[in-house]
Amino acid sequence: MNLDSEGKRRLIAALASAVIDNAEELTALDRAIGDGDHGLNMKRGFEAVLADLDGLAEKSLPELCKGIGTHLVMTIGGASGPLYGTLFLALGKNLPPSPDLPQAARAFSAAVAAVKARGRSDVGEKTMLDVLAPVAESLEAAAASGMSKDLTARLRSAADLGLEATRPLRATKGRASFLGERSIGHLDPGARSSQLLVHAACGVLSGLMVEAGGQGA
Ligand code: ADP
Ligand code: MG
Repeated sequence: MNLDSEGKRRLIAALASAVIDNAEELTALDRAIGDGDHGLNMKRGFEAVLADLDGLAEKSLPELCKGIGTHLVMTIGGASGPLYGTLFLALGKNLPPSPDLPQAARAFSAAVAAVKARGRSDVGEKTMLDVLAPVAESLEAAAASGMSKDLTARLRSAADLGLEATRPLRATKGRASFLGERSIGHLDPGARSSQLLVHAACGVLSGLMVEAGGQGA
C-alpha cells in the first residue's frame, strides 16, 4: 500500500484523535487498576504527534513511524511511553516505504516482538500485548493465505477480542500487578488504548482502499 501525504495526514490525525477523544476513559480504566494517568500520558504523547502533523506527513512511512515513536518516548513517560515508543520505532525500522501485506505483517510482528522484549512481557499478562499480539497474528494469517478480503474487519475483531480477554486476567506486569487478584474483572487500560489505535488505523486504511477503487476491507 502506498500512502500519499494526505493519506498519512489522515492516518496520524485518526490515531491521535482516537487517543485524545478517549483520554478520560483510559484514565478511568487506569484509576481502577493502576495510578489513573494512562489517558493523560497518552494524550500528552499524541498531542505532540499532532503538533508535528505537517512534518510527519511529508516523511516516508518508516520515517513517519520513527517520528511518532520518538515523540511518544519523549513525552509520555510511565510504562506506556517506552513501550508505545518501541512499537512505533520498531515499525519504522522494519517497514519498507510502500509495504505489501506480507511486509506489513512481518514489520508489525517484529514491532510486537520488540514490545515484548522491552516490557519483558508476553500475551496473557493483562497488557497492551493482549491486543497487539493477536492483531499481528491475524495480519500474518492474512498474509500467509493471501486473503485480504475483510482484512481490517478481522483486525478490528482481533483487537476487540484481545481487549475483552484482559478482563478476567490477573495482571502480572506493570502497576496493575500490585493488585494481584483484585486486578481481575477490569479491562487493561493499555489494551484499550491499543484497541483504539488499531480501530483508528483500520478505519483510515479501509477508507483509502475504497477510494482507491478496491473493495475496502
Ligand atoms: P504507568 O503504569 O507507569 O502508570 P501507564 O498508566 O501510562 O503507565 O500505562 C499502563 C499500561 O502499560 C498498562 O495498562 C499495560 O497495558 C501497559 N504495560 C505496563 N507494563 C507493561 C509491560 N511490562 N509490558 C507490556 N505492557 C505493559
Ligand atoms: Mg498509569
